[in-house]
Amino acid sequence: MYYTNDTTLFLNGKFVKAADAKTDLFSQTLHYGYGVFEGIRAYQTVNGVKVFKSHEHYERLLRSASLMGIPLHYTAEELTQATYEVLARNNQSNAYIRPLVFCSPNMSLTSPNEVSLMIATWEWGKYLGDQLLNVCISSFQRPNPKSFKIEAKACGHYVNSILATTEAKQRGFDEGLLLDIEGFVAEGPGANFFYEKDGVLYTPPKGNILPGITRQTVLEICAELDLKVVEKLFKPEELFEADSAFFCGTAAEVIGIDSIERQKFNKPWKESIGATIQEAYRCLVLDKSYSYVIV
Ligand code: PMP
Repeated sequence: MYYTNDTTLFLNGKFVKAADAKTDLFSQTLHYGYGVFEGIRAYQTVNGVKVFKSHEHYERLLRSASLMGIPLHYTAEELTQATYEVLARNNQSNAYIRPLVFCSPNMSLTSPNEVSLMIATWEWGKYLGDQLLNVCISSFQRPNPKSFKIEAKACGHYVNSILATTEAKQRGFDEGLLLDIEGFVAEGPGANFFYEKDGVLYTPPKGNILPGITRQTVLEICAELDLKVVEKLFKPEELFEADSAFFCGTAAEVIGIDSIERQKFNKPWKESIGATIQEAYRCLVLDKSYSYVIV
């Protein structure tokens, strides 16, 4: 359950009970997937409840809406304030936050004049769990960036993600890794991907991926810790020569990968660069120094 009778959410400028909140069955978002959303986390830090990179997430929401031609009249600051208020009203500190922009009733294929915005929060464990993952190469490609605004976090893009994760689970894997339309590795259904080879991290460049805020955080951690990271296109075959790999995303945080298509990485996760990043990320979201993290 994502809410109880007591849960409050933010809907169009008001704080209302989730159980009483309603939407219209003729919403364009429900029929066509034409909406945008975010996934954010709040943490109980040493300095109180902190929404991690709230500004960056809400700026991405505004950009997603603008890329999609969905009018949205809030500032990132207003949305951040509303988020802290929802968390306080729900008495939540470690929570997942889901802002969703959805469109009014409109059965035609034109962009709307009016939209709704809700911000819901709930307690949610790490999205991909905390065990190392067995990953397959998905038979689904990420959407063609010439068909979609791939940099937008748009509802409809997640049909592709659901297909990929469902296929992975049906094949007995924990998660899938999707390629782009040229056959280069792109990302997971809900997380970005890094691999390690000879002490260097590699990750796909922007263009065919959702530019993750966690991915950006990993790049910042690498700069801080003097770890070499290269953004480049690579084929899945390169992964079979890699030393280790991980997914990263707001919901999943940083999670190590044990094997790809049943081929295990030879470096123990605990000794990998990913494990160092995982520890540093944990410190960062909790507002703690990670300077002690040994590289
Ligand atoms: N790629 C996809 C397809 C995603 O859904 C997500 C999760 N939002 C990510 C990457 C990671 O993005 P972020 O770090 O901003 O959560």
